[in-house]
Amino acid sequence: MTTRRATSTAAAARAGIERRLDALRARLAELDAEAALLTAPADVRWASGFTTPEDARVVVTPDAAVLITDDRYTAQAALESAIETRIVGGWRWLDTALDVVGPRRLAVQADHLTWQAARTLEERLGGAPVAVVDLTRPLRLIKSADELERLREAARLTDAAFEHVVSGGLRAGVREVDVALDIERFVRQHGGEGMAFDVIVAGGHRSAMPHGVASERTIERGDLVTLDFGAKLDGYHADMTRAVAIGPVAPPLRGWFDAVLEAQVASVAAIRPGLSGVDADKVARDRLATAGLAERFVHSLGHGVGLQIHEGPALSSRSTDVLAAGMVVTVEPGVYEPGVGGLRIEDLVLVTDDGHEVLSHSPKGYLEV
Ligand code: ZN
Ligand code: ZN
Repeated sequence: MTTRRATSTAAAARAGIERRLDALRARLAELDAEAALLTAPADVRWASGFTTPEDARVVVTPDAAVLITDDRYTAQAALESAIETRIVGGWRWLDTALDVVGPRRLAVQADHLTWQAARTLEERLGGAPVAVVDLTRPLRLIKSADELERLREAARLTDAAFEHVVSGGLRAGVREVDVALDIERFVRQHGGEGMAFDVIVAGGHRSAMPHGVASERTIERGDLVTLDFGAKLDGYHADMTRAVAIGPVAPPLRGWFDAVLEAQVASVAAIRPGLSGVDADKVARDRLATAGLAERFVHSLGHGVGLQIHEGPALSSRSTDVLAAGMVVTVEPGVYEPGVGGLRIEDLVLVTDDGHEVLSHSPKGYLEV
């Protein structure tokens, strides 16, 4: 039974990657190219299933897709790659890539290819390749059922880690870094591949830093501690932020908490297909402006999440995206004041056919430990 199930899972993964490659080929035709060299790690994994994409590339042509990696990964690639694999060392990967491409017009990832590789390719091709920014972005916006299952699982594990840490580890007298380690250990022990990004634990004045990675500062009574983290599972990221009070919190932070929560709840409620990234962002911005906190909301409302922690669509005042069913986004308004503190509240949200489904289930009301 186990073997049969494993085989059908592998077949499903292969079919999923075949669909991705076909979508990429259609996109290449639009870009007037016939082949693509994928060098961005998340895209290499997306197109092959190989889990050490930092040491690999994928070449896609109308009739072939080849993963190129080196001989440290012979066994791993045989196990994981859903496409043909070629093992070559050092800079010879470029020769192999060009062999596969042949005389076809090649598209490269202008936002990821190294300058050195670009120079070499230009020389060898006798002209510049088609340089594309965001080559796979439109293809990765809508998540498949398989991807959604992983994102849900990553969100569940993130919720479990939050419950674990607020029921003991997070308290006055411990260092931020110890809280971060507690979260990370929990995630790894419960099946996570790692963390989606360095765990953010920021209390006291440090909470004024939107990306205050855990420091050696000791958490004190009266802190409003920002915890922003996510489990990573099978390459897929979760992302959630909660602000937790360590004993009673004084003004103005206590009032800011209610304003941010109100803006966050209103923004989540607005999420549905057809809503633009600009309008989603505006919901939170307008609410915070009403509370007199507009200038303190210094970042955008949210971002897409998947094989990368930050991907499309963007929920911001400059976004050109429009939400559609199957997209997974964060909704994360926050306010910050240097020298005082700040907070953010963030959920992972799936856009559904008729609205949305919140994938983060941790309580987000005012919580004092
Ligand atoms: Zn986050
Ligand atoms: Zn985020």
